[in-house]
Amino acid sequence: MTWMRIYLDYNATAPPLPEVVAAVSRVMSTTFGNASSVHAFGQQAKAELDAARAGVAHLIGAEASEVVFTAGGTESDNLAVRGAAEALEPAGRRHLIATAIEHEAVLNTVRALERRGWAATLLPLDATGVVSPDALRAALRPDTALVSIMHANNEIGTIQPIEALAPIARAAGALFHTDAVQSAGKIPVNVRHLGVDLLSLSAHKFGGPKGTGALWIRRGVRLVPYMTGGRQERGRRAGTENVPTLAGMGVAARIAADRLHHAGAIAVLRDRLEAGILARVPGTVANGDPARRVPNTSNISFEAIEAESLLIALDLEGVAISTGSACSSGSLEPSHVLRAMGLPNARARNSLRFSLGSTTTLEEVDFVVGVLPRLVDRLRHLGRPAAAVR
Ligand code: PLP
Repeated sequence: MTWMRIYLDYNATAPPLPEVVAAVSRVMSTTFGNASSVHAFGQQAKAELDAARAGVAHLIGAEASEVVFTAGGTESDNLAVRGAAEALEPAGRRHLIATAIEHEAVLNTVRALERRGWAATLLPLDATGVVSPDALRAALRPDTALVSIMHANNEIGTIQPIEALAPIARAAGALFHTDAVQSAGKIPVNVRHLGVDLLSLSAHKFGGPKGTGALWIRRGVRLVPYMTGGRQERGRRAGTENVPTLAGMGVAARIAADRLHHAGAIAVLRDRLEAGILARVPGTVANGDPARRVPNTSNISFEAIEAESLLIALDLEGVAISTGSACSSGSLEPSHVLRAMGLPNARARNSLRFSLGSTTTLEEVDFVVGVLPRLVDRLRHLGRPAAAVR
């Protein structure tokens, strides 16, 4: 086989679809107007935004008027959490609930509000990363403003039972936000079926441009905008819209909706990869919920391996994956997700995430399964004290 690069890091970002690249470049070269301008140039830009909004709404089963464009998933999460917290503060609701496995965009926003006087509860999870309705019931308080529970986790792919959780929060008078950044485009996402109030999206996770996202806000839900300025996005997010990349997001959303049926084929490849690794590399175990997870993600712990070393060894073979750990101040922190699931530090530290996508082939999967036993074996020997190697 000729040397090839293999990309198995779709949860970090997906390659932009050719149709998206074409749309961004077309709009950038033909439609420079400000979408708020009254003249024809402005109206042309506004028409592009309207089409993009309809595309995004279609992906999540929403009304276009409920979709607010943002500069990505992080901003959508911030707008949801900060906007809801501030909107409900005058009613005396100063308590927030999230899970311990949220993305930092939610976790650090909740922490920032805590420093400003809000109370917060992080929900516990079971060993597969699932939140139980009972845990949510126990955490809710009369002053809970918002519950934020992600739809699918970025590291392990576990899907939360949002349909069961959202009504519990809403019955207690709290708003419910879900971060659907890792589920949109991978599994069907329908805001009405989920029963949520707020839902975050990020274009670059489903083939759109980076720095481009949306927050779906259920009609009637009031948020305090935290980006203040002009009246764009019906007063909910100030700033001249990035028309070309939003047009690209609209195209990506329509294609993602059309291709949801490919998920089965991706799951077959993911399962082949996971089963192959577990069978051929001793001392491996899969993390997360084997049944309730997005079809493209596999998280595997490799006993007696520093995940970062294996990531680099794979990169040298042309294979791009991720660790579950975050490098902070030079030391490798074990993944907060795996730790919250109760995994010991060592196992959390030696886990790797493989995330597949539309370009992944059988040949690529088999190459990774074929190369891993040798790499793992070599690293384990290197890690052993000299006496033990001899
Ligand atoms: N939420 C989740 C679950 C994510 O995986 C990510 C990206 O990794 C984000 C939010 C942040 O999205 P963005 O990169 O568009 O800011």
